Amino acid sequence: MHEIVVNLHMHTRYSDGTGTHKDIAESAIKTGLDAVIVTDHNVLVQGVEGYYRVGRSRVLLLVGQEVHDQDRDPQKNHLLVFNANRDVSPLADDPQTLISGVAEAGGLSFIAHPSDPEAPAFKETNISWEAWDVYGYTGIELWNALSELKTVVPTKLHGAFYAFFPQFIGYSPIPETLQRWDDFIANGQRVVAIGGSDAHALNMHLGPLHRVIFPYNFHFRAVNTHIFIPQPLTGDVPTDKKMIYEALAAGRCFIGYDLPASTRGFIFKAKGLEQSAIMGDEISARRGVTLQAHVPEPAEIRLIRDGKTIGIWRDSQACVYSASEAGAYRVEAWRNYLGRKRGWIFSNPIYVR
Ligand SMILES: [Zn+2]
Ligand SMILES: [Zn+2]
Repeated sequence: MHEIVVNLHMHTRYSDGTGTHKDIAESAIKTGLDAVIVTDHNVLVQGVEGYYRVGRSRVLLLVGQEVHDQDRDPQKNHLLVFNANRDVSPLADDPQTLISGVAEAGGLSFIAHPSDPEAPAFKETNISWEAWDVYGYTGIELWNALSELKTVVPTKLHGAFYAFFPQFIGYSPIPETLQRWDDFIANGQRVVAIGGSDAHALNMHLGPLHRVIFPYNFHFRAVNTHIFIPQPLTGDVPTDKKMIYEALAAGRCFIGYDLPASTRGFIFKAKGLEQSAIMGDEISARRGVTLQAHVPEPAEIRLIRDGKTIGIWRDSQACVYSASEAGAYRVEAWRNYLGRKRGWIFSNPIYVR
């Protein structure tokens, strides 16, 4: 298995972002990402997918879309769509029709910013997901960096502070979303968690102040999705795209908040008598399973089964646990950064059955 770092969910001038695909690729190369997935609102931009190069470095830029019903008021229920290879926005007036349409097209769908509170100081409305009776989607965007920002800006002054010091924002996925995900996976549902930046590189005007806030390269160092693919990226677009989307569909990934320290090198795996597994996989509980996690820097490691914390290892780089009970086991790692203990790693579960 080979780990790659991917930033996903972002916007260009084709919707409400300010940059171009080329700007994104250059920022991604500068920040050392392996791939990015650009998702403009309700448009599937053609002809820009591929490898972009600066000197000897390269990045794979893939294109999906973020779809919602534009006639709905408020405009809730945003869905991230990858690999459908056609514009699915005409299906947007019914979330279930949209999700089923994506699946039929061989694509992946993720519920974007499941809890996305209002930020009245910036006239931003609540655009959470409401249609929770849907089925057949791949997963949810557990950590969305922009929703999190909306939780910390009760006034414009707060907004101005975080515009200059964005490193103080990142803390963890919104608790309500985390709870909802735990409820799903504890019920045996397979719901893949991903982390999205929702980068727009927005222009902020505040009196005489003008600033591009949260530029792409800030986001690309923050909330990333780390994906495990069977072999290193080959440089052939169709091959690499297939590997990435298959791994995402299987949940072979974790969310890394890479700003406090790089999360590259994290692994969560399981070993049974005859089988072994990593995040996203199922393994039989028969005769016991050994779960193992390793983090690249000392951190507080928490092991969670069906939403309940069953072990905490403080200031550790590894943990081992003998699991005899069935359940969805996942790992979180927390680290001190800028005066606060912050979520650093959120793994997908290993399903012990
Ligand atoms: Zn959205
Ligand atoms: Zn978005």
